[in-house]
Amino acid sequence: MKSFHIITFGCQMNEHDSERMSGLLEQEGLCAVDTPDAAEVIILNTCSIREKAEQKFYSELGRLTRMRDLSGKKVAIAVAGCIAQQEGRKILARVPSVDMILGPSDIARLPGMIKRSSSTGGPEIATEGDSDYHVSSLPAARSDRIKAWVSIMYGCDNFCTYCVVPYLRGRERSRPSADIVQEVRELAGRGYREVTLLGQNVNSYGKGGAAGDCFPDLLRKLNDVSGIERIRFVTSHPKDLSDDLIQAFRDLPKVCESMHLPVQHGSDKVLMTMNRKYTIAEYRDKVRKLRDAVPDMVLTTDIIVGFPGEHEEDFEQTLHLLGEMRYDNIFAFKYSQRPGTAALKLAGHIPEAVKEDRLDKVFEVQKPITLERNNRHKGTVQEILVEGKSKRGGKLTGRTRGNKIVNVAGPDSLVGSLAKVRITSAGPNSLGGELCE
Ligand code: SF4
Repeated sequence: MKSFHIITFGCQMNEHDSERMSGLLEQEGLCAVDTPDAAEVIILNTCSIREKAEQKFYSELGRLTRMRDLSGKKVAIAVAGCIAQQEGRKILARVPSVDMILGPSDIARLPGMIKRSSSTGGPEIATEGDSDYHVSSLPAARSDRIKAWVSIMYGCDNFCTYCVVPYLRGRERSRPSADIVQEVRELAGRGYREVTLLGQNVNSYGKGGAAGDCFPDLLRKLNDVSGIERIRFVTSHPKDLSDDLIQAFRDLPKVCESMHLPVQHGSDKVLMTMNRKYTIAEYRDKVRKLRDAVPDMVLTTDIIVGFPGEHEEDFEQTLHLLGEMRYDNIFAFKYSQRPGTAALKLAGHIPEAVKEDRLDKVFEVQKPITLERNNRHKGTVQEILVEGKSKRGGKLTGRTRGNKIVNVAGPDSLVGSLAKVRITSAGPNSLGGELCE
């Protein structure tokens, strides 16, 4: 029996694609091992959203090929995911000893590629990308027994000027809602308590009607699945945050009060060059409606600093927006030049040192806001889904409905169940508490 090990870079969608690859290989009789040095097939599932992720992948690939050559063992190395789709055969020019290259829509070909590559010895390449193909039709070896990711759509139609996703993952297509409901029912039957719906732009799910439901209707159906206690979703585009979705947040008890709503920038001028299709006034109005409907909403966002043409006064508008919105947390990045994107051709690229300085300032402004948002939970009683033991201190760890991490002393028997916790302390990354009952 051949052994395999998967190393995953990037987002939850890649994590879930890796679960699908594992499920497929296990079904074919291969067995997963915990470390690359114990594996006969090593798969790197890559991310190309930022240059740094790409550099990290190439350095890991170099390390693994050196390790294999020194060991003298027969080990096949596969590159999957977005870099495989973007670079294809060009990867061989940098690292000729790679055995397989396959894009995100070619995962189903992996077992056949492994067989052929071990018999022919030549590199196997599959980056055609089948647009009708759904990763969800493959078996999944899920890494968690309580929470599960469920892909509801693939690709993206938005073409933000800095982003490679529409070129690599193709145009937007939604899975039929009946298939998704069936998958979630099966997960509930196997004891899963929480599902996170995945897609590049989940709130435009069902656009065009072919999936059978729009996103709020899909949430209504999933809310009726017995056994599932919590429903989350990522990522949402502000332009598609409808009144109907806000109502679903308010009315559906299983839809958790947490939303990641990437604003990206505080300046209308920059948002327009990014092709984000909303203004700050429109974004502000949607957040106001969301918070009016669900006052406990935990809101997070993405920020890009140093986008081409970002003047100091544009950047100041981003800082101002952080102060105004008071996000619970942010994910902030320096603009990264990606091949094939429209932003690459824009004038006014910002020097690296300026980008770094602006990124530091963003974190400086946000840090006390995150702490303030965490502090407001002190003294409240929160429901947590207990996920396991915390890495430090041996306490139980779980998340509130707002997706905040809580560490609490308690018996292991609570793992996998909902528990009420009184919050007694708050730090920048997590909350502490005591069990109420
Ligand atoms: S919405 Fe924009 S940033 Fe998100 S995946 Fe689509 S193109 Fe990329």
